[in-house]
Amino acid sequence: MTQLRVAVVGSGPAGIYCAAALTESDEISVDVIDRLPTPFGLVRYGVAPDHEKMKSVINTLSKVFLHDRVRFLGNVEFGRDISLSELHEHYDAVIMAHGAAIDRRLGVAGEDLPGSFSATEFVSWYSGHPDAAVDRFTLNAETVVVIGVGNVAVDVARIMSKTATQLRSTDIPDHVLDVLARSRVRDVVVVGRRGPVQAKFTTKELRELGELDDVDIVVRPEDLEIDAASELMLESNTVARRNLEIMREWSQREPQGRSRRLHLRFLLRPVSLDGEESVQSVTFARGRLDGNGNAVDTGELEQLDAQMVLRSVGYRGLAMPGLPFDEERGVIPNAAGRVMRAAEVIPGEYVAGWIKRGPSGIIGTNRGDANETVRNFFEDVSELAPQVARDPTEIIEFLGRRGVRVVDWQGWEKIDALEMATGAARDASRVKVADLERLLLASTEHRP
Ligand code: NAP
Repeated sequence: MTQLRVAVVGSGPAGIYCAAALTESDEISVDVIDRLPTPFGLVRYGVAPDHEKMKSVINTLSKVFLHDRVRFLGNVEFGRDISLSELHEHYDAVIMAHGAAIDRRLGVAGEDLPGSFSATEFVSWYSGHPDAAVDRFTLNAETVVVIGVGNVAVDVARIMSKTATQLRSTDIPDHVLDVLARSRVRDVVVVGRRGPVQAKFTTKELRELGELDDVDIVVRPEDLEIDAASELMLESNTVARRNLEIMREWSQREPQGRSRRLHLRFLLRPVSLDGEESVQSVTFARGRLDGNGNAVDTGELEQLDAQMVLRSVGYRGLAMPGLPFDEERGVIPNAAGRVMRAAEVIPGEYVAGWIKRGPSGIIGTNRGDANETVRNFFEDVSELAPQVARDPTEIIEFLGRRGVRVVDWQGWEKIDALEMATGAARDASRVKVADLERLLLASTEHRP
């Protein structure tokens, strides 16, 4: 029986779960393509360095690449190194699982002032993403305002509140550790535009903020007053109920004069980021809950001093050449994973993960999501147009002719070994290599 060949674009959890589900059939072989020479997407470049247990899912995801019908083609950028139509020449089907890694905008004045960054930039920097300039952050600010109250806001606030010593044993790159060691940050203020019950963070993540060494957590009791709609929500939403209990306990704490303070504020809608040459403060419109879980302005303004602002208001998907795109939702339009163009299903094209459903859920959510897509692919198999280039070596030769230095799984294993060895020398789990050229060099040269 002729093998069917599937290209999965993106080697984050969604892409890898797709590959795993595809291998259930002996008749399918899979190439997982990634623009980076390293696999695992946001598990490597999004999960915070101090969340090592969460990162250990990498051990499970890695096993998928040990399958003899799954290959990793790293350092291959869709749209630059290979187009959609070229992929169709080599594969019977294409699954887009490239995520939603760009930041949503606030749309307020001063958003682009120096000192204002998206949280995604900060996350990329401390995660050692090759796209993030090594010197992008200095942490010279004494007060940092984080806008948004989701899990990313919690991550960036926590990393900023920790010391270099506390993070030394993680995979955080050396240059990030150096900046953290010189950090002047004393106050981190996390601000939500609605009330505490409407906050998006999960309880485990929130709780950690109150357990940080040498950090006072500051919550004002008046910020925790809620309306009838919030009360109703608490009855059915355990996460919101636990979160509120935790924040109420914090609001009773007396500050202990610790080195850093982490403040949680609510009902403040950002109006502008202010400053001549760089951010000096943020102006917020004070709100009150409107009885439906939303906030309305009270007419009062509040200005918070801040020399650095991190906008943590969610991720957004990136349109990809040749594929339809829903600008409003930031996803590729699809019916349960089958790509749709103007209400028609496009044969042989699928989506999975954040680019399919939007940036929500935890790592595990991508498993069910990927399974749904692959189930539909299996249903369609008999109707797929077979690809022209059937020999799996042809795609490698094609990319070689284009001058693409493909990094395969063995190449990644060399990078992995180098990072682990560097980590051992720092007494860390690993130390990430952040520079693209060094990654490429390691993928060919490093011998464990
Ligand atoms: P998120 O959970 O959607 O939170 C976005 C926050 O931004 C919300 O508080 C939202 O408030 C606020 N916001 C949106 N537009 C705003 C505006 N114009 N002005 C002020 N605030 C605004 O997004 P995220 O934190 O980026 O997380 C993305 C996904 O990754 C989530 O599913 C998250 O759980 C997951 N994640 C998980 C972990 C973990 O498990 N440890 C870590 C990181 C990320 P409204 O609710 O009012 O819109």
